[in-house]
Amino acid sequence: MPKTSMLQAIWDDGHHYRRSLLRTMLWMIALLAFGLALSNFAAVNGVPFIIVEAFVALYCLVFLWRLPNIQYLRLWSGALLLMVFAIIAGGIATKAMHVDGFFWLMMMPPLSLLLLGLRAGAIMTLIFGSIGVLLLITTQRLEDGTLDVPLMVNAIVSYIAIWAMSYVYETRRLSVIHQLQQVASHDPLTGLYNRLHLETIFKRLLAQHRQSQQFALILIDVDYFKQLNDQYGHEAGDLVLVQLAEQLRRNTGANDWLFRVGGEEFCMLLPQSDAAHTYRLAEQLRQQVAQHSLSYQAHTISFTISIGIASWPSDGHNLDALYRNADAALYNAKRAGRNTTLSSDMPAINHAVNSN
Ligand code: GH3
Ligand code: MG
Ligand code: MG
Repeated sequence: MPKTSMLQAIWDDGHHYRRSLLRTMLWMIALLAFGLALSNFAAVNGVPFIIVEAFVALYCLVFLWRLPNIQYLRLWSGALLLMVFAIIAGGIATKAMHVDGFFWLMMMPPLSLLLLGLRAGAIMTLIFGSIGVLLLITTQRLEDGTLDVPLMVNAIVSYIAIWAMSYVYETRRLSVIHQLQQVASHDPLTGLYNRLHLETIFKRLLAQHRQSQQFALILIDVDYFKQLNDQYGHEAGDLVLVQLAEQLRRNTGANDWLFRVGGEEFCMLLPQSDAAHTYRLAEQLRQQVAQHSLSYQAHTISFTISIGIASWPSDGHNLDALYRNADAALYNAKRAGRNTTLSSDMPAINHAVNSN
C-alpha cells in the first residue's frame, strides 16, 4: 500500500464517524419505513408504497447487520439516500404527501454531506434540490392554476440555507479533525512523526508485510548533545535537531518512515530493506552528518550521530523486540566511541566503523 493511502486509511475517522451516525439513522429509517408500510395497508392504491417501504426497511436491516465490516460504505449510503429521497419525492408526486413533504426534503442536504462527504454530498444535494423544485412547480399550484411563488421562494431559500450551514459545519469539522491529527502524530519542532505514530505505522506495515521481505528499524542518536546544548545554548540544540531532521528526511526513501522518538533520538522504518542495504544507508547518513556543519550566531557547529540497526525477522517479530535490539546496537555504538553504525548482530567493538 502506498504511503499516502496508508495514512489516509489510518486517519479515515470519517468511516468511524459515519458508521455511528448511520447506526442511529438506519434504525430510525427502518422503523419509519415499517410504520409507513403498515399505515399504507389502509390506503387506496397503497400496494406500491407498501412494497417500496418494506424494501427500504429490509435494506436498512441488512445494512445495519453488515455495517461493522462493510466495504463500500459510500455506495450503500448513496443507495439509502436515493431510496429515502424516492419515497419522499414519490409521496409528493402522487399527492400522498402534500406540501409537508418538503419539510422532509430539508433532511437531504445534511444527510448527503454527512454520509457522502463534501463533494459527492454537494452533488446529491443539488440533484435532490432540482428535482424538489420541479415537483414543487408541478404539484403545488394555487387554486387558479398559477405558481405559488412565495412557497417556492421559501422552500428554495430554506433548502439552500440548510445546505450552506451543513457545508460550513462539515468543513469546520474536517479542518478541526485534521489539526488534531497533525498534533497527535507530529513532533512540533521538526515536523516529523512522533513516537505515538511509530506504533500505529509499525502495526500497519507489519500487517501488509510479506514474509519473504526484510524490514529494518534504525535508531539514530546525536552524540554528546547535552554538551552541545551546554556549550551553545538550547536554541542552538534545537537548530541542530531541525537540520538533522531535514538531512534524515532527504535520505528517506519513498516507502520509508521517519520519526522523532525522543529528545535527540530518531527512528526510521525501512519496510523493504535488507540488512546490507540498511547498513549502507545508515553509514551514508552517519558520514553525511559528520561532514556537515551549521552556523549559529558566530559559531560553526558540527556534530555526529550514532546508529543502531535491527532487522525483521532475525531481531524480533514485533516493535518492542526490534526497538530493544536496535537500542542495544546503539548502546554498543556509543560504547565503541560514538559516530558509529552498528547492527544488532555485530559485536560492539570489533565492527565499529569510525571513519570520520
Ligand atoms: P550521548 O552521546 O551518550 O547520546 O550523550 P548525550 O549528551 O547526547 O545524551 P543525553 O541523554 O545525556 O542528553 C540528551 C540531552 O538532550 C539532554 C536534554 O537536555 C537534551 N534535549 C532533549 N530534548 C531537547 C530539545 O527538544 N531541544 C534541545 N535543545 N535539547 C533537548
Ligand atoms: Mg539519547
Ligand atoms: Mg545523545
